[in-house]
Amino acid sequence: MTQRVNIDKKVLSENDRLAAEIRSQLARKKIVTLNLVSSPGSGKTSLLEKTLAALKKELSIAVIAGDVQTQNDAVRLEKAGGPIVRPIITGGACHLDARMVSRVLAELPLDEVDLLFIENVGNLVCPSSYDLGEDMKVVLISTTEGDDKPLKYPGMFRRSSTMVINKVDLLGTSDFELSRARENALQINGSLKVFEVSCRSGEGLDKWYAWLGKLVSDKKGVSAPE
Ligand code: MG
Ligand code: ZN
Repeated sequence: MTQRVNIDKKVLSENDRLAAEIRSQLARKKIVTLNLVSSPGSGKTSLLEKTLAALKKELSIAVIAGDVQTQNDAVRLEKAGGPIVRPIITGGACHLDARMVSRVLAELPLDEVDLLFIENVGNLVCPSSYDLGEDMKVVLISTTEGDDKPLKYPGMFRRSSTMVINKVDLLGTSDFELSRARENALQINGSLKVFEVSCRSGEGLDKWYAWLGKLVSDKKGVSAPE
């Protein structure tokens, strides 16, 4: 048991070292980097599809799409207008780590990129322990899940800076309550920024897009247009 703990510690500290390298590399290039985490089926890929389609004229967006198997999500994202999409197939691993990301970053034309999304593997547990060098984690939940997700997976909500509640068009078809989900999340992390969206109806996405645009202009040190 002690040995097991020591190995985990070693893996994580090596991961942190690599993540710090990635972070400074991305900072030099002034790239906003968001690590998207959620359970399977919350809509990470759908949110990215919408975002790429809406913002591709204004911003140069790259996506690293992690999946345990298949490149299906990466193919969807390329169709949505993402010319810079790279899949990572973890071959069984239930999270991305900094080594996988750093390998893929070496292939990306970073000088052209404003905004980088890392779509993590659908899993609310161990991706919270693996720093990928991102600016922040964005956690998604959807109204087809339990509104107690934040209480069940507090580590993830504590380490995320932003929460997106997806599928608000389906509110009322289950016991999910928006106010309760928000309260549960804020109880875990009072500084979470919350977006409520539907990738299907488009509701709420304008605020998400505007926020992304502001992150990019802040990073580049230019003021956002009034
Ligand atoms: Mg996906
Ligand atoms: Zn894992």
